[in-house]
Amino acid sequence: MKKRIAVIGGGAAGFFAAIHAASPDTEVVLFEKSNKLLSKVRVSGGGRCNVLHHCPYTSELVKAYPRGGRSLKKAFGRFGYPEARAWFEEQGLELKVEADGRVFPKSDSSESVIQVLEKAAQKAGVRIQMQKDLIQLETKEGGYRLEFRDRSTYDCEAVILALGGQPKESGYAFLKSFDLNWVQPCPSLFTFNVPQSPLKDLMGLSVPNAWVQIPATKWKEQGPLLITHWGFSGPAVLKLSAWYAPDLKERNYQFPILINWLGLSEEEARTQLQEYFFAHPAKGVANSRAFDMPSRLWKAILHLAEVPEGKSNRDLSKKEFNRLLENLLRSPFGVSGKTTFKEEFVTAGGLDLRDLDMQTYEVKKYPGLYAIGEFVNVDAITGGYNFQHAWTSAYLAGSKASKLD
Ligand SMILES: Cc1cc2nc3c(=O)[nH]c(=O)nc-3n(C[C@H](O)[C@H](O)[C@H](O)COP(=O)(O)OP(=O)(O)OC[C@H]3O[C@@H](n4cnc5c(N)ncnc54)[C@H](O)[C@@H]3O)c2cc1C
Repeated sequence: MKKRIAVIGGGAAGFFAAIHAASPDTEVVLFEKSNKLLSKVRVSGGGRCNVLHHCPYTSELVKAYPRGGRSLKKAFGRFGYPEARAWFEEQGLELKVEADGRVFPKSDSSESVIQVLEKAAQKAGVRIQMQKDLIQLETKEGGYRLEFRDRSTYDCEAVILALGGQPKESGYAFLKSFDLNWVQPCPSLFTFNVPQSPLKDLMGLSVPNAWVQIPATKWKEQGPLLITHWGFSGPAVLKLSAWYAPDLKERNYQFPILINWLGLSEEEARTQLQEYFFAHPAKGVANSRAFDMPSRLWKAILHLAEVPEGKSNRDLSKKEFNRLLENLLRSPFGVSGKTTFKEEFVTAGGLDLRDLDMQTYEVKKYPGLYAIGEFVNVDAITGGYNFQHAWTSAYLAGSKASKLD
């Protein structure tokens, strides 16, 4: 008799796990609660699906995971970026790497990724059952019993949980009879609302390399920064939201920020500004180009620093010069609330990694039970890393589950 393996969840992780769990010795059934498969893959990356991030080195890759980090080293060492990329290419998916390292299908369409996954699942003989909402999981002699909302049951030897991020703790209720540890869920990857921002009229403007910092903490991140009509967005803000997701939730998304628009140290900024003013003494301060930033933003910063636009560089008082420098390096704003970034978000929290063998994603206390993808306490910054973890964890769990004990 074949080993029966149930995969719960028809997202990226569930599909990839089912494909790798399938073998002549196994019967793999994938249960999906909705009537849609791979729905996040479809909408991901603005419909283009940022399927991976070009990062061949495991030690570098783990740095993109606020939750997971170093505990993912072994997993990525076994099946990381090179292996995942090779798998997709072997299936005939042509990929391209963009300048910032994000990997997309050459077609620029997530449908190409979906087709590859669906074809591979079909070829492997994975059976798919839709509208199967798992509501109860129990151990039984030699395996597990699943119960679905429609009251049907399924007995099997192995279960792979790929239910995605559960925004509420009630999402783990079906496992109540299991002795497991959970990290409280909270949203990650969001932009900052600044209702009183004096820069709202500048929406759409960006700087290439800002630092965004939360004062009186060590929390700061660097990268492109975008002014929006509701506040701030862009990689610097998204990274900050990801790295400090639980802390920012604890502050109820009410906190001050300081923006360094230049990405320079105080010393570097002071020298560059002095040298520019020295070289262009008669130039009007409003028309000065001391740094790489849009002129409308420069003028807005002059306004914040209370430096009269009509003055020439040589006429700036020492106080005005210092106020300008202060606002270039530490413009203060009050964040009040968050907004989802292009509908893209992930859930931080989930099954505690201490409960998992991180080389197989098998739950230590329950042989034959696996948990993968966003359902576990791993999430990443934007850029293809969340899917990378879905492929990695799914491959390791699926391959281990496929083995006969
Ligand atoms: C709009 C958007 C864009 C994104 N873009 C990117 C991107 O470009 N690159 C990137 O790396 N990441 C991206 N992400 C994040 C990425 O999509 C997720 O991290 C990834 O899809 C997680 O895969 P998963 O299989 O673990 O979970 P999911 O994709 O969430 O799949 C879980 C599945 O389980 C099913 N399920 C849940 N509960 C049950 C139950 N009780 N019984 C049966 N089935 C159940 C759900 O219906 C769902 O189909 C994006 C996310 C969003 C929301």
